[in-house]
Amino acid sequence: MISRDKIRNIAIIAHVDHGKTTLVDKLLQQAGTFRENEAVVERAMDSNDLERERGITILAKNTGVMYKDHLINIVDTPGHADFGGEVERIMKMVDGVLLVVDAFEGCMPQTKFVLRKALEAHLTPIVVVNKIDRPNARPAEVIDEVLDLFIELGADDEQLEFPVVYASGLVGTSGLEPDAQEPTMQPMFETILTSIPAPTESTVDPLQFLVTLLDYNEYLGRIAVGRINRGTIRAGQSVAVLDREGKQRTARIEKLFGFQGLKRIEIEEAGAGEIVAIAGIKEINIGETIADPANPEQLPVLTIDEPTLQMT
Ligand code: GDP
Repeated sequence: MISRDKIRNIAIIAHVDHGKTTLVDKLLQQAGTFRENEAVVERAMDSNDLERERGITILAKNTGVMYKDHLINIVDTPGHADFGGEVERIMKMVDGVLLVVDAFEGCMPQTKFVLRKALEAHLTPIVVVNKIDRPNARPAEVIDEVLDLFIELGADDEQLEFPVVYASGLVGTSGLEPDAQEPTMQPMFETILTSIPAPTESTVDPLQFLVTLLDYNEYLGRIAVGRINRGTIRAGQSVAVLDREGKQRTARIEKLFGFQGLKRIEIEEAGAGEIVAIAGIKEINIGETIADPANPEQLPVLTIDEPTLQMT
């Protein structure tokens, strides 16, 4: 099992079109070059047909990026206010956020909407002033706007100390100053490793896992995605499932997956603090707790909004 201090869980939040998808693509590509070369799949996060049609990212997706010997889980978030419940749930799976802001456009309505959720969840923010290659980029003003927004939204003292990375996801540069761009995403990776806390949950306590997102696969059926709250999960294990009313049933973990690049990869076990996908539990639903049968304790129920419930 990967050691807890080598894991970082972050969400990526932004106003639509500020460059989340392009940036994650670039992080994936460059993670490949820092580790062993992996094939790069075009347009990482917009794989869903509906999204492609609309040209915007609307569904949460998980991406696992290896940088040096660290696993960085990046969870995409919908920016639209209709998905408020989903955004709140994602904020419970991560320890920090990358707030991506266009270096010309600055803060926009969805920037405010998603930042509010992140600050309320007491997450550690990193501000990415993106599209720094734009000829009309105005990074100093944009940072002032971002700081004002943090203050308006009631950020605490630690959150106000946010590190800033200036970047162009398109060109593939990043740096700690707008005019000191390196031709790699290394400065962004290093900022993630140093600023975002690693998970601290215990892997030896009785298992608890909150079903936070649902995925679906025609062979595997419903797939429960979430962060292991405590303990360890093993493929093949019998578990207790507690529904939102606390009613208990038993089930078996058929398959367990981690995220590597854009793919789900099958793993044997995973521990507290890891974001995983679980297949094999029929009728599994958001807000249910998967727990140790010898010690089945329910986790607090989550906000659910309509678009997520329509998933079958
Ligand atoms: P998303 O909606 O936040 O996922 O944004 P996308 O990654 O899909 O990018 C939206 C648009 O901005 C696309 O036309 C991209 O080509 C463009 N774009 C993304 N990153 C950059 C960048 O770093 N510089 C410039 N100039 N354009 C960018």
